Amino acid sequence: MSNLLKLTDVCKEYQRERKFFAVNNVNLEIKTGDFVNIIGRSGSGKSTLLNISAGILTATSGSIEFDGENFSQKNDYELSKIRNEKIGFIPQGASALPNLTIIENVLLPYYLYSSLYAKERRGDPEGYAYILLEKFGIENLRDSFPSEISGGELRRALIARALINRPKIIIADEPTSDLDIESSRNIMETFKKLNEEGMTLLIVSHDFDTLKYGNRVYTMNSGILSEGTNFTI
Ligand code: ADP
Ligand code: MG
Repeated sequence: MSNLLKLTDVCKEYQRERKFFAVNNVNLEIKTGDFVNIIGRSGSGKSTLLNISAGILTATSGSIEFDGENFSQKNDYELSKIRNEKIGFIPQGASALPNLTIIENVLLPYYLYSSLYAKERRGDPEGYAYILLEKFGIENLRDSFPSEISGGELRRALIARALINRPKIIIADEPTSDLDIESSRNIMETFKKLNEEGMTLLIVSHDFDTLKYGNRVYTMNSGILSEGTNFTI
């Protein structure tokens, strides 16, 4: 299979008291159908790497190719369009809008750009949002507000939101943080099922429990990515 996402020599340098690399010369290839799990302790550069992979953050050097396009040749507008259409991004922490119901939150990425992409967007978004809620067993919560549902239910709603525009990849930043063991497993099983249905996944975690998931596991350590689980936490 061909590469969906290819990072070549990607670096991100930040300046604090001194300069340092939050992401240090990372190379990573993700093919369609892969389930890649990156594990690493807090501060190791996981979020920085994911944000670069999703085109939210610009790398200091290196190249990012996604679905045949090079991120460095795109402007902000083009990058957000790619992200909206092709990347289901689940940011770290609970990121639902509190004043929208669960189904409205799920529909948000669809409507966000609907005026711009009106000609390209078809179908029945409400129907599809409901199907996704059903798929994750939370259709009865469609009209609830984020503050009224549990952490595990909210994570499932955020996965539904990430899927609404039928992306090519799901990128999730610590999707099981703050969840109890059972809810964490439920989320990881949900990802596993999505992968079995053909979805490509890139997730990062600091949770050992997630190690058995994914067809490739990487470790992030002080900005350096290595294959396998040779690290100290
Ligand atoms: P992780 O997600 O693995 O916890 P991050 O990618 O959030 O790690 O951060 C990696 C390192 O980069 C940390 O030392 C963090 O403090 C630092 N960092 C993150 N964002 C910035 C920024 N905007 N400016 C300076 N340093 C940053
Ligand atoms: Mg992080």
